[in-house]
Amino acid sequence: MPAADEHANRGRPERIGLLGGTFDPPHCGHVAAAVACVDALDLDRLLLVVANHPWQKTPLRTVSPAEDRVAMVEAAAAGRPRLEVSRLEIDRGGPSYTIETVEELLGEARGEQRPAPEVFMVVGADLVESLPTWERVGELARLVTLVVVSRPRSPTPQPPAGWRSAVVATPGIDVSSSEVRTLLAQGRPVGGLVPEAVIRCIHHRDLYAVWR
Ligand code: ATP
Ligand code: MG
Repeated sequence: MPAADEHANRGRPERIGLLGGTFDPPHCGHVAAAVACVDALDLDRLLLVVANHPWQKTPLRTVSPAEDRVAMVEAAAAGRPRLEVSRLEIDRGGPSYTIETVEELLGEARGEQRPAPEVFMVVGADLVESLPTWERVGELARLVTLVVVSRPRSPTPQPPAGWRSAVVATPGIDVSSSEVRTLLAQGRPVGGLVPEAVIRCIHHRDLYAVWR
């Protein structure tokens, strides 16, 4: 897809959304949040950035292999215009820091002599509180627009001071990957919470020890 030409035609820098996550597994809440951001912010594309080593989660539980999570996110994004799966953090290896992903995207544009894209970093309202613990957060705040999306059972979206920011309302799908893993481990259905294509992928790859 000739992304750069498209933006040149529209006379503005490319608008790229980043929704980072562990996606273990991806669910309908992720997809709804991504689609809401594409629409509300008129993004040219939104990257679902699959964390390689989610350093804030791995001490707490075992995370599914990155390639399984990528395959599930590919299934979730298939056929949805402007949603793309990004392997940037997996290919980079090591712990996943969003600042490095943003620097890579900006560096790519420089290398291709494109205007710097506008980067919109999307987080659920549950994550706002943890932002000060993120790696090189001051630099991140200078490089991106923070987009806080609403999430059921999470605080009302309140962008923190010190960021360019926006709030995007989602349809409010009350689901988390943790709940989905619990349901699957109990052999209970997750239809309506997880896209059908992702359920097929879970089945196919024999994930979450559910089908045995
Ligand atoms: P877990 O229960 O394992 O933490 P999760 O459902 O929170 O999983 P993550 O991969 O941690 O999924 O989330 C990635 C991003 O998507 C985060 O910014 C998170 O806040 C956001 N997000 C997750 N679920 C929803 C939802 N239902 N509505 C809106 N945003 C969501
Ligand atoms: Mg989470």
